[in-house]
Amino acid sequence: MREIILLKYGEIVLKGLNRSYFNSVLESRVKRAMKGVEGEFRYDYAQSTLCVYGDENADYDTAVEKLKKVFGVATVCRGISCEKNMDEVISRLTENLDRLIGGASTFKFEAKRSDKKFPLTSPQICAECGAAVLKARPDLKVDVISPERVITVEIRDRAAFIHGAGEKGAGGVPVGTSERAMLMLSGGIDSPVAGHMMAKRGAAIDAIYFETPPYTGEAAKEKVRALAEKLTEYCGEIYLHSVSLTEIQETLVKTCKEKLFTLLLRRFMMRAACAVGKKYNAGCVVTGESLGQVASQTMAALAVTDNAADLPVMRPCIGLDKDEIVVRARNIGTFETSILPYEDCCTVFTPRHPDTNPDLEEVLAEEAKLDVEGLLERALATDSFVRLN
Ligand code: ATP
Ligand code: MG
Repeated sequence: MREIILLKYGEIVLKGLNRSYFNSVLESRVKRAMKGVEGEFRYDYAQSTLCVYGDENADYDTAVEKLKKVFGVATVCRGISCEKNMDEVISRLTENLDRLIGGASTFKFEAKRSDKKFPLTSPQICAECGAAVLKARPDLKVDVISPERVITVEIRDRAAFIHGAGEKGAGGVPVGTSERAMLMLSGGIDSPVAGHMMAKRGAAIDAIYFETPPYTGEAAKEKVRALAEKLTEYCGEIYLHSVSLTEIQETLVKTCKEKLFTLLLRRFMMRAACAVGKKYNAGCVVTGESLGQVASQTMAALAVTDNAADLPVMRPCIGLDKDEIVVRARNIGTFETSILPYEDCCTVFTPRHPDTNPDLEEVLAEEAKLDVEGLLERALATDSFVRLN
């Protein structure tokens, strides 16, 4: 007998002709996620399931936690692998019964037989296993309608697997099966969630942080770095860029109408994010904006911001309420870092009465007072990046 982790693939099972490509990306994502986990692991793909076998030193607890963060995996099941005969199946089952049943008082069996030559049918397998469990634990009851535990016996080509229902995996499709996205990552709650949502749909993520030294400090930058590091658990490697907007912010404050500061700044952020994104082959820019959340996130304001972008701008949080975003941030483990109290470059110069219904002509007239190209070029010259993960 050996322990095993079964990764049940999700949506990629439907991928038709591209399926082998999706499978190979997923397998490499799984192996990468397992780096650093104690023990040697072997991988074997069959029938929409990746089987992960560990050696005697394998740290299965850590492995499962890491594998639950790999996009493309629908379910992570921890189970037992044994020889394909009923004597063997039943003795492994009874040996591991406490673990398989947990605290449940009712159960049922499900059997899957991909080896059609196996002498017993699926109902016969269930009946034999059920009888063995009842003999070992007469306090338990079978409930085929709504059991507290479902135990699955799979008769595969090379072995039999016994496992419980498993835990929900990260879902989505493997990172890297879509194009690259440049995530505008502030220290807030929303943008890490936006990056996570895009990675779930297969985007490879790079990130850009805009700082305003000396108005924003090292602690704020460290916070963004910590958020990006957290995202690498789901996204794999992330190149985190930082670009200084100090000259731009100071110029805006000196030259332009206060009610438009934020929007003008956001247009510069968008230009810079697109420029860095294009340089590193991103197909879009991603933000954590949500409709109506703040003045710069009304439809009119978003349209004015988009007008400065020359890549598509994707906003996966656009239809989420703040509390829904918070639930996601907690689930992915970014919330506690996001709420640390460090200054943000937007808040340093926030206008008292921002324009919620800006007029593009008026915004362009304000920009006409500036050397937009020069300011942008000097900001981009400050671009530096670190590779995380
Ligand atoms: P969040 O909580 O995600 O930071 P927010 O609610 O504070 O967002 P804004 O400050 O208006 O809203 O920012 C909207 C979006 O613009 C952010 O989600 C992020 O994608 C981007 N952004 C804002 N500030 C920065 C920054 N300093 N560096 C990089 N991106 C930024
Ligand atoms: Mg913010």
